[in-house]
Amino acid sequence: MQLLDGKKAAQAIRDELKIEVAQLAAEGKKIPHLAAILVGNNGASETYVAAKVKACDEAGFLSTLIRLEADTPEIRLLDQIEKLNNDPDVDGILVQLPLPSHIREENVINAIDPDKDVDGFHPVNIGRMVQGLPTFIPATPHGVMLLLEHFKIDTKGKHAVVVGRSNIVGRPMSILLSANTNPGNCTVTVCHSRTPDIKSFCLQADIIVAAIGKPEFITADMVKEGAIIVDVGITRVEDATKKSGFKLKGDVHFDSVAPKSSWITPVPGGVGPMTIAALLKNTYRSCALKN
Ligand code: NAP
Repeated sequence: MQLLDGKKAAQAIRDELKIEVAQLAAEGKKIPHLAAILVGNNGASETYVAAKVKACDEAGFLSTLIRLEADTPEIRLLDQIEKLNNDPDVDGILVQLPLPSHIREENVINAIDPDKDVDGFHPVNIGRMVQGLPTFIPATPHGVMLLLEHFKIDTKGKHAVVVGRSNIVGRPMSILLSANTNPGNCTVTVCHSRTPDIKSFCLQADIIVAAIGKPEFITADMVKEGAIIVDVGITRVEDATKKSGFKLKGDVHFDSVAPKSSWITPVPGGVGPMTIAALLKNTYRSCALKN
């Protein structure tokens, strides 16, 4: 078993970006600028946004964090997005999900200028991704593809089973893995909550991408010997022995699955850091298009 070490791969991407940004600055060109909006104070969202802002700072990007109260009306959030859309200094706009229940996520995603949609959730960018055109690819599946690329995983002709079909992870993941690209060129099966006998599909998989949010759902008896395992899931599970009161669990039972796998991502330290690296890459791309 070998580790698909997301921390290591993400650091390599971030170091590369840092050099490129320093070069932009030296040439007097525009430096990438990410604006992140956080509505409310959900603990996990606070952590994710803080990590994204820190990563921007470390790579020499500019970043702006806009905090809005949990009871902010949807129209105020849309106004804020409009301001950022019209601000020539801002290259990327990120609204941290999930949003409070009174705000319709769809309206917010659709309000972001597709040219600044560095999370890649806007229907225009999803459409471009489906057609294989240059675009902003949703950060988490983009991060998974960069991780496979970094470790030179040969995916061509493999059977990939993606468990989960959300718009931000499972569905784009299945499209990217089936694309005529490298990595890519997989034959893809998508499983979800209405799939009977998920185990029978997973047992046929050369690659499993688990993105469901159910801690340790994928167990050793569901995995073929030598399979490549990508665990996207992150769930906070209560743990009184931790100072924070919780620990992070993936969707894969790591201890039992790892010995059967050829490659596996840890949680934490696998897909999480790659999501941030992909977000930075998207923001850099947005800025580069302007430069
Ligand atoms: P989501 O929107 O809740 O979607 C979950 C998907 O899993 C749905 O398609 C659902 O099926 C399916 N599912 C749920 N229970 C299932 C079951 N028992 N059997 C089979 N399928 C099941 O979640 P998400 O946003 O895609 O996120 C998934 C996980 O990834 C979460 O743990 C999240 O925290 C994590 N995540 C991590 C990162 C990262 O950077 N590492 C980024 C984003 C998300 P239906 O469609 O039928 O309901």
